[in-house]
Amino acid sequence: MLKYVDTAVTFAEVPYEISLCINFSYCPCHCHGCHSSYLAEDIGKELSIHFLTEQLIPSNYGISCVCLMGGDINPIDINSYAAAIKKANPTLKVAWYSGRDELSPAINILNFDFIKIGHYNEQLGPLQSPSTNQRFYMVENTGQLIDKTIAFQN
Ligand code: SF4
Repeated sequence: MLKYVDTAVTFAEVPYEISLCINFSYCPCHCHGCHSSYLAEDIGKELSIHFLTEQLIPSNYGISCVCLMGGDINPIDINSYAAAIKKANPTLKVAWYSGRDELSPAINILNFDFIKIGHYNEQLGPLQSPSTNQRFYMVENTGQLIDKTIAFQN
């Protein structure tokens, strides 16, 4: 089971959505210049599906999206969280911020509405940088990925 360090409701991670962001620890990506190097540690509390769907999401009334931040150490768990969120709250969008450069084959893309992939590269910059290597995709209901990275640069 993945552990999470903290949560925050933000407008920045997913354009046009009010997102409950959940920051997972034990990040295996080790990007040079990582903005949150403490996330590489095995810290935080285990996130059960019951707590996620019965307590954490209901206690954040008004959100339109849940954004799973990290969790690359166990994409199967990320996929399980996404499926559980969709089952319990069919109108909520689900996003995943992965630090990997390739999408994990362990996930069912149809459990997600948005996917960000790409490690952090100091020279190329984050999503807001026109030179970024990272990509933010909207997932169509056919499973096709539409590149929406430009939305962060306007
Ligand atoms: S994926 Fe994110 S948290 Fe993990 S090392 Fe890279 S920048 Fe840091």
